[in-house]
Amino acid sequence: MDKHNRQSFLGPNSEATLRSSRAVIIGLGGGGSHIGQQLAHVGVGNIFLIDPDTIDREGTNLNRLIGGTEKDVEDETLKVEIAKRLIQSIDSRIQVHTFDTPWQENLQVLRGGDVVFGCIDGLMQRRDIESATRRYMIPYIDIGMDVHKVDSHYSVSGQASLSMHGQPCMKCMGIIRDDQLAHEAALYGAAGERPQVVWSNGVLASAAVGLFMQLVTPWASHPKPVTLLEFDGNRQTLTESRKLKYLGQMSCDHYAYPIELGDPFLK
Ligand SMILES: [Zn+2]
Repeated sequence: MDKHNRQSFLGPNSEATLRSSRAVIIGLGGGGSHIGQQLAHVGVGNIFLIDPDTIDREGTNLNRLIGGTEKDVEDETLKVEIAKRLIQSIDSRIQVHTFDTPWQENLQVLRGGDVVFGCIDGLMQRRDIESATRRYMIPYIDIGMDVHKVDSHYSVSGQASLSMHGQPCMKCMGIIRDDQLAHEAALYGAAGERPQVVWSNGVLASAAVGLFMQLVTPWASHPKPVTLLEFDGNRQTLTESRKLKYLGQMSCDHYAYPIELGDPFLK
């Protein structure tokens, strides 16, 4: 029995489409490790993993790093290697390529992808990834989570977003804001350690994979792709953003010029 027969509703050619697709994941921490696992289960055939970090020596990543073990902490294993091991233990036919250098040094990898997933904290970097993927006309799926102290309790929120040609960008969606970029720039680009927990990461990673599946398989005929899902961690809800209704009326002029397409150095 084909192991994917319970997802046959996705469409007659979906399995072949997924098998031939190329997904890039930037950041293999709490969010990216979840996404890698799910892409292996749905049968994406080519996965490119980019992250220069190792699992941390104190073991503090083990609360959220899917596939990470105590032995990895001892060995200070690269996060991309942990993800590769997990993916290939689910499906050994998947071609997994690992890059343990910053994504900025792997632009050719981004360019070769059908989709790029971004699972990192820094807003400046996320803006730059979006800009690179827009140039290459590749859909960019980003997840982010925030924890704020409100009086005596905490508020947990986050979002999964899809940025692609002809659709609102992350600036339009209000995910990347100038005041927050300025704040990060004042800290020399440091995003700071953001709190993360495995269940919220899991919700957002699942939402990100869902955004990808709507692009590559015809099961949910939707006139327009869903591009922004908001997570309320206190209410435990995930909803399509109400902002999209009015964003749909306007066109994004942040990436509207043909001169901004292709490699910037090949003009
Ligand atoms: Zn925009």
